[in-house]
Amino acid sequence: MNATRHSLYQQLFALLQQREVELRAILETDDARALHSATGDTEVTDFKEIAAHGVAAAVEDMQAAHAAAELSQVIAAQRRLDDGTYGFCAACGEPIAEQRLLVMPQAPYCMACQSYRESSDERHGPASRT
Ligand SMILES: [Zn+2]
Repeated sequence: MNATRHSLYQQLFALLQQREVELRAILETDDARALHSATGDTEVTDFKEIAAHGVAAAVEDMQAAHAAAELSQVIAAQRRLDDGTYGFCAACGEPIAEQRLLVMPQAPYCMACQSYRESSDERHGPASRT
């Protein structure tokens, strides 16, 4: 029995639940806004207003997309806590550093795998740099 690890997980579980509530609130606000604008009860005649509204809506859509992606990671992390696979990298199976989990409790990968995935996303070999 590792009591330190156990209390860490309880702390992380609380963090994940808190994050889930925050993300759901962001998504619910976005849904409410979409519903409101769909009813068309606000008459917008000023083109500047339309442009400003469009930008704000685009920013909110982006935030909602980020929130939805993060929420699915948070839920996946809670599931891993339940089935006992939490804290291990989904790519290499090595334990993820506790410091990393405290900063990002929903992280599915260890630091090495995460940075490997990010650098392989670039699709530019290090040799192409001058
Ligand atoms: Zn890994």
